[in-house]
Amino acid sequence: MDQPLTGTDTHAEIREEVRKLCARFPGEYWRALDARRGYPTEFVTALTEAGYLGALIPEEYGGAGLPLSAAAAILETIHAEGCNGAACHAQMYIMGTILRHGSAEQKARYLPGIAAGKLRLQAFGVTEPTSGTDTTALRTFARREGDRYIVNGQKIWTSRAEHSDLMLLLARTTPREQVAKKTEGLSTFIVDMRGAKGLTIRPIRTMMNHNSCEVFFEDMEVPAENLIGEEGKGFRYILDGMNAERLLIAAESIGDAKWFTARSVAYAKERVLFGKPIGANQGVQFPIARAYAQMRAAEALLQKGLAKFEAGLPCGEEANMAKMLAADAAWAAAEACVQTHGGFGFAEEYDVERKFREARLYQVAPISTNLILAYIGEHVLGMPRSY
Ligand SMILES: Cc1cc2nc3c(=O)[nH]c(=O)nc-3n(C[C@H](O)[C@H](O)[C@H](O)COP(=O)(O)OP(=O)(O)OC[C@H]3O[C@@H](n4cnc5c(N)ncnc54)[C@H](O)[C@@H]3O)c2cc1C
Repeated sequence: MDQPLTGTDTHAEIREEVRKLCARFPGEYWRALDARRGYPTEFVTALTEAGYLGALIPEEYGGAGLPLSAAAAILETIHAEGCNGAACHAQMYIMGTILRHGSAEQKARYLPGIAAGKLRLQAFGVTEPTSGTDTTALRTFARREGDRYIVNGQKIWTSRAEHSDLMLLLARTTPREQVAKKTEGLSTFIVDMRGAKGLTIRPIRTMMNHNSCEVFFEDMEVPAENLIGEEGKGFRYILDGMNAERLLIAAESIGDAKWFTARSVAYAKERVLFGKPIGANQGVQFPIARAYAQMRAAEALLQKGLAKFEAGLPCGEEANMAKMLAADAAWAAAEACVQTHGGFGFAEEYDVERKFREARLYQVAPISTNLILAYIGEHVLGMPRSY
């Protein structure tokens, strides 16, 4: 079999170029950042300069105007090459909310700068400590006063907040008790974080290098012109972007699974014990083979989801299932990789333990596996709602 990990890939040229770029950022680079929880500025700059982070922005705004499947190919390749797209993937897709729901003036003001990488829209403020997955229970409140909103509240797990100029913020503008449906009364804002008064950002030290933060708003002023679309309809605008996000995160997990499997296969063939390569033992070989099969199945669903998305068809079922199955496949491949490497799976210099920590996230974020199962159970299969 030729190149079993890349043989059926789409967008071959883009993948090849991304591979070359990633070769400039080997394991040593990521290991050093991981140790000091540093931000991969050079890597993100290289991706920006190559135009990859503006891939989804239409050409009229200075982007590459590529389809979602191209963005998925970029992120998958980044992960398959041992790099990490989490430092910048949001720059690719958060802007979708402005593109779909922003005014002509907002699009003209923000999209060219985002496409050029001069404006970093990397921060997405939805999750709060008390509401978590129960998004409509969020408490951050934006009160209208003349030509501005006054924002008070707190977000948690706002990734890349320290490395972003702008934040897409979801806040309540009408108290939950005063709306007919709890999904109403939430609004979406573009917050310019540069020098904003009443904004405090505190990094959270996490199990992997993710640059996630707590963000506090204390009477922070946001000009009314920064409201996206209609006041009170923000939850729908955020939901509109979720299928794209899930498909792209699925692509990253597919990339992770490919990286782990390539490492496992190479090590299983070269490590000789008891007079033969350890990969000749089915106890070593089968978990790697099983994870590979899981990855291929998830990848097929991902391709189906991308095709439906690009055809403008509903793809919530495929996007959710692809995200879950890809995260599961990556985790199975990660587990097999550690086990195959024995003690060396725990040694930093092999990068396996770093990728293992990084891959674990996608069972929880941006949406946890249980909530995907609830979506399938309730929205696809029509069983009673749990929440
Ligand atoms: C590193 C990292 C980066 C992140 N980046 C961002 C970001 O940039 N922006 C942002 O807004 N958020 C971000 N998040 C937040 C992420 O989206 C949430 O952590 C995730 O949605 C889960 O929410 P929670 O942590 O509050 O868990 P909770 O909502 O408290 O859930 C805890 C557990 O209970 C389960 N659970 C909850 N309700 C149900 C139910 N009804 N049925 C069954 N099980 C249920 C969940 O599946 C989960 O396993 C990030 C998180 C992490 C860890």
